[in-house]
Amino acid sequence: YDISQALDFTDQVNMENESENKNFIFQSASRTKDALKNKIPCFKGVSTDSRITEKDDIFLALKGENFDAHDFIPDLVKKGVKAFIVDKTFLRLKGDAIFFRVNNTLEALGMLARYQRIRSGVQVLAITGSNGKTTTRKMAASIFSQKFRTLSTSGNFNNEVGLPLTLLKLSGHHEWAVVEMGMNHPGEISRLSKIAMPDIAIITNTADAHLEGMGNRDNVAMAKAEISEGMKDKSTLIINGNDPSKQIILKKRANNPRVSNTIFFGTQLKEVPDIEIKGENNIFFVTEEKKEFTGNGISFTISTSLSGYRFKNETLFINSPATFMLDNALAACSAALAAGISISEIKDGLSIFQPVKGRMNIIKKGHLTLIDDTYNANPASVKGAIATLQKLSSGKEAIAVLGDMLELGEQSPALHFSVGEAAANASISRLYTSGERSEDIIKGALHAGLARDVLFNGTKSEITKSLTEYIEKSKKENAKEICILIKGSRGMKMEEILNTLLS
Ligand code: ATP
Ligand code: MG
Repeated sequence: YDISQALDFTDQVNMENESENKNFIFQSASRTKDALKNKIPCFKGVSTDSRITEKDDIFLALKGENFDAHDFIPDLVKKGVKAFIVDKTFLRLKGDAIFFRVNNTLEALGMLARYQRIRSGVQVLAITGSNGKTTTRKMAASIFSQKFRTLSTSGNFNNEVGLPLTLLKLSGHHEWAVVEMGMNHPGEISRLSKIAMPDIAIITNTADAHLEGMGNRDNVAMAKAEISEGMKDKSTLIINGNDPSKQIILKKRANNPRVSNTIFFGTQLKEVPDIEIKGENNIFFVTEEKKEFTGNGISFTISTSLSGYRFKNETLFINSPATFMLDNALAACSAALAAGISISEIKDGLSIFQPVKGRMNIIKKGHLTLIDDTYNANPASVKGAIATLQKLSSGKEAIAVLGDMLELGEQSPALHFSVGEAAANASISRLYTSGERSEDIIKGALHAGLARDVLFNGTKSEITKSLTEYIEKSKKENAKEICILIKGSRGMKMEEILNTLLS
């Protein structure tokens, strides 16, 4: 990675905002540039993790809540790392290491990533939304890879550190980057969008999530809509036509004339929502018409009014029984169509998609069907998972094991209550709850008519014990097959229950 070009770039870059530009000054850039060219013109990559930094990486020192990566620099110098981006000076270190001093290393990381994104000449698909980012990203990457050399976010690298690090992996070899953008505060998506400069952006949906940082759902929608702020000329914004907050998103999007296309995706979408968008603007639909459950997946047909792609009732397949996964698939298909990918490539790409670990993974063991949705939870995703449990358990016994949903702020009791009601209304035979907020789930379940003697509240190990005994007993009595949904927020680590059941 040739940072001297990045330095040139930062000299030349015409930032929309002068002050942003000033904030990103490689001090004594011109002096070090020559030195750098002679000494070590190329770096393999940019690293922020001292544990995996290699000799030919440039180490960028970030400050976290618990650590300051500047502290690791002396050791890295000893290890032979030659170049550092810092916000302190390290004049007294021996050796020939080069230090680039910036005002703020996190901003520098973003600027380098933006530079790499421009320099590599790739196109970018960015995905945000309350639920389904990682799944949609995986589906889209699978489809885009059918036609293009595609770089995709790995793991959950979707924040102000992860997104730049992903973009810094771009090379001339790539044609498209499919990246995720996560947030829990206003302003974050705007920053990420200005770094990634998406050609196509998806907002999967908006839901009650991260309410502690966001207040209410409208604010969530406003924050997601920030993705339009960094979008490129003639770009395409893809939104969920059934999202109650779509007007808020569209209003914000209307402020950016660079976005010239809007695609609505959704189930049974019939007409344009009640909106007015000024300027050149094309509105398309990608809708799902019919669906049929086959084994553990869903066949469904899509139709689109996207010009050049107008078709009706093309049959696709996704490897998941969850109805809400259709929305994720439709979003990914919309992006693929906007990128010029053919329907047959879309079919092939989507058919090889495998659910991401902990997201609606169906695991069969003897007479048990386990739905592992332990990765994370908020009210919309729990209700979606409960609906899938109900569907999958037809003719079987259905059990829900629910952990707390975190970060919901003041509305937390009411939202837990509503999840309890949803569980009770889904014909489950037993409900297990764990966590400090489970009392509200129980209240909701009782309110919706679930009998007290099928409710079990306890620690994860108590639940595991009780559940194991129940499963053993039902096996002996040769009772029906059992379908068990396990879900909770990340902090609840509900996979511990699953792992014991599987061991
Ligand atoms: P996070 O922000 O927590 O990383 P994410 O947006 O990346 O989440 P996924 O990892 O794809 O989303 O899915 C997380 C959970 O949300 C899954 O366990 C699944 O139950 C649920 N989910 C996924 N897609 C949707 C959707 N379209 N609607 C509702 N729930 C969904
Ligand atoms: Mg994710």
